[in-house]
Amino acid sequence: MDTVNKQCIYCGKDLRGRADKKFCDDYCRNAYNNSQNSDRTRMVRNINNALRKNRRILESLLPAHEATAKVSRQILQTEGFNFKFFTHQYQTRKGDVYLFCYEYGYLPLEGDMFLLVRQKEGQ
Ligand SMILES: [Zn+2]
Repeated sequence: MDTVNKQCIYCGKDLRGRADKKFCDDYCRNAYNNSQNSDRTRMVRNINNALRKNRRILESLLPAHEATAKVSRQILQTEGFNFKFFTHQYQTRKGDVYLFCYEYGYLPLEGDMFLLVRQKEGQ
């Protein structure tokens, strides 16, 4: 009566039994869950790597003894900066929005230039 035409999410075999069944057995359930976890782990790792790389690039372009620096988009791109990823943003009272990768931030300026800044401690 309860038999439905559904396939196992993991191996694609026809399932028999309860309507809410999703897997043939524990083997398929575990294998599926493991594959999901590794996809997610990989995604998180890729994003973390991109963020750390962005931070490294900003750090290398902002001399330690300077509070700010100006660089072009081209330089950032050449270094491999990924504009898709940042950790947080900060809006000044003037309305400027700085995007940060950890403690290093950048503000888009006119002419495809960027102002690089370092977040002060306690901010
Ligand atoms: Zn299966």
